[in-house]
Amino acid sequence: MIERYLEPAIETASRASLRALQEQRLREQIAHAYMNSPFYRRKLAAAGVTPAAIAGLDDLARLPFTTKDELKQDQADHPLWGTLLAVPVEDCLRVHMTSATTGRPLAFLDTRDDWHGFYHSYARSLWAFGIRPADMVMAAFSYGPWIGYWSGFYAAQDLGCLVFPAGGFSTDQRIDALLTYPITVLGCTPSYALFLAEQAARKGIDLAKETRVRITWHTGEPGASIPATKAKIEAAFGAQAYDLPGLTEIAAWGFECDARAGLTHVHEDYCYPEVLDDNDRPVKPGERGELVFTSLYRKAMPLLRYRTRDIVQVTDRPCPCGRTLLAFEGGVLARVDDMKKVRGIIVYPRRIEEIVRGHAGVDEFQIVFRRVDGLDDILVRIDPAPTLARRECEGLCRALEEGLHIGLGIRVTVEPTEPGGLPRWDHKAKRVKDERSEVPF
Ligand SMILES: [Zn+2]
Repeated sequence: MIERYLEPAIETASRASLRALQEQRLREQIAHAYMNSPFYRRKLAAAGVTPAAIAGLDDLARLPFTTKDELKQDQADHPLWGTLLAVPVEDCLRVHMTSATTGRPLAFLDTRDDWHGFYHSYARSLWAFGIRPADMVMAAFSYGPWIGYWSGFYAAQDLGCLVFPAGGFSTDQRIDALLTYPITVLGCTPSYALFLAEQAARKGIDLAKETRVRITWHTGEPGASIPATKAKIEAAFGAQAYDLPGLTEIAAWGFECDARAGLTHVHEDYCYPEVLDDNDRPVKPGERGELVFTSLYRKAMPLLRYRTRDIVQVTDRPCPCGRTLLAFEGGVLARVDDMKKVRGIIVYPRRIEEIVRGHAGVDEFQIVFRRVDGLDDILVRIDPAPTLARRECEGLCRALEEGLHIGLGIRVTVEPTEPGGLPRWDHKAKRVKDERSEVPF
């Protein structure tokens, strides 16, 4: 029998032994940050905390939080790498950058050991999806300073897979490679998986029938944890799709497993998760809160209590796979930064995607938050499949309006574009426009 876990000693460890390991790494990390990172020396001093005050995880709440804005400010004030850097820059092996929506991206450095930790934990995730050394893997992420491409590539190589680096390929070249080579695994953003399938269909190619892809994994966006989006990807490739949430600053921290129970496990030995409510108190199992991570392995830029702005729900059920690692229900459920308020109602774009993707015949969509006659309004533009007749398209729009009204508790206008009228995305999609913030009032 093929082993289910890559690292059973960690993945099925007793909670007590895992906690002992976390506490030992936590103490090392805090001492290292305090001694070597001017950024943390300052922060801990300001909070009146010394490493000696943190004996274990129960003391974690005494540490101040760290935010991405602070890190960006630190790098802006102290170019190029900021005062967070806790090792000589000569000891660093790689620089990656976070995708920035505003301002300069955050540059993140790793030592050799840091980088090994990043891709080795990622490899554990790939194994949990069912990827094995005999697989041939195509990493179809954009080639550049985004960590997603490199970590996926190195992780597959770490398992001993035959890796096809397709970072610099066009979509046509990628389709050609999928038809030509015995590629069994594809890694890409969920938006790109759908785009790739759509482009192939235009050429009369059915990727589900004409390629050997059996597993796809998706990162960079939460799409693969949205059941309707996952189902669409799985149908397009005739494969099983898996979600792999991650953060450049922390780790490729989570993974779905082959039990497919709707749970996302956390690499708790690499990064310690806290899930906190609005008052920064830990939530109970079954409840939602903001995910806060303390890195237990990275030494170049060690982060303590880093606010991810991601909302997750701690599960209250065990996963049938037998892993003892903490799990969340359904991956990242929302991003605090994506939250929109429309006529007093809170709306997350992810919820709209869940509903839109549940309807066949939508190739692409766009969400516009706008003002009509002084009132907030939501417009969802859909790019219908070319095979859809006009009347079917009208019916689809009305069905979507009804579904969105029920799902969001607010009226939404749905309009079709011409087929192919909306932009497609080869990396992370930007489907949300908030025209209210663009218009001066
Ligand atoms: Zn599991």
